[in-house]
Amino acid sequence: MTVTVATNLADALAALRATPDARLLQGGTDTMVEINFNHFKPEHIVALRKVQELRNFSIQEEKGLIFIGSGVPYQTLENDPFLTLLPALAQASRTVGSPQIRAAGSLGGNLGTCSPAGDGLPVLSALDATVHLQSVDASRDVLIHDFMVGVKKNARKPDEIITGVTVPILRGFQGYSKVGVRNAMVISVASACLAVDTSRSQIRLALGAVGPTIIRCRESEQWLATQVDIANSNFSNEIAKEFGRRAALEARPIDDHRSTAEYRKHAISVLAERLLLKANS
Ligand SMILES: Cc1cc2nc3c(=O)[nH]c(=O)nc-3n(C[C@H](O)[C@H](O)[C@H](O)COP(=O)(O)OP(=O)(O)OC[C@H]3O[C@@H](n4cnc5c(N)ncnc54)[C@H](O)[C@@H]3O)c2cc1C
Repeated sequence: MTVTVATNLADALAALRATPDARLLQGGTDTMVEINFNHFKPEHIVALRKVQELRNFSIQEEKGLIFIGSGVPYQTLENDPFLTLLPALAQASRTVGSPQIRAAGSLGGNLGTCSPAGDGLPVLSALDATVHLQSVDASRDVLIHDFMVGVKKNARKPDEIITGVTVPILRGFQGYSKVGVRNAMVISVASACLAVDTSRSQIRLALGAVGPTIIRCRESEQWLATQVDIANSNFSNEIAKEFGRRAALEARPIDDHRSTAEYRKHAISVLAERLLLKANS
């Protein structure tokens, strides 16, 4: 096995072009588990941890956007300025693993693995984030909804590195909640992110761990828009309950070792209902 420890993005991209079957390694919190359990034996590794360009973030206030480098760890994302500007992302980051996992694990790694249970992904979906990809000679931007294509499958080409995501800063409530088999150190059994975008009069809901990839509840969102004036609304208990019921209908869960499909649907209805009621306060 060869290991290339890149110290800048150009070197990392060149190493990946030379060995497109290489496994990129950021925090290693997914990849090292696969290697340790003998699920995967890479021939080549390109380590990104020392690539500073991937560990930066920047706030573009005039455009109302935040760029987050793919190597920024959850430990950074759970605190300010993210806590204030992207509270759902901070909340989701806080639920990931333990402090040790959050010190190493990154949003880029969550996107790379693209598990339907990845905690960062429903947030990126509800916030309509854009994923940035770069190869030696090209770069492209892909909407998060087009990036996640299936169970642990994404639209990255073999010679591309995810350099980061751009996330709109919204005015309005946003929240992330998840259900697991215990309170901490737990992979989601079901998760949901709700974001209110008052400038576009939209409420967006994205679900995790209840389908092959993250599900945006477009039908429930549209139904809600016909029921209330989103910009000034106070959501009644009845509206919130019906919103939860409709969100559960959009979930496509399976039975597995973590939960039954039936329980997952129930969990989604409760999470969606509660998140909408939280948007009142
Ligand atoms: C004990 C434990 C608890 C965990 N708990 C949670 C949890 O609660 N919620 C959760 O969502 N996850 C959890 N995870 C999974 C993991 O921590 C996350 O998925 C994390 O985001 C992975 O980030 P990483 O930087 O460590 O990725 P890595 O392991 O370095 O990489 C993961 C994948 O992404 C690819 N990749 C990494 N960076 C890039 C890049 N820049 N461009 C292209 N591809 C890239 C890699 O090639 C690999 O395929 C847990 C893991 C462990 C071991």
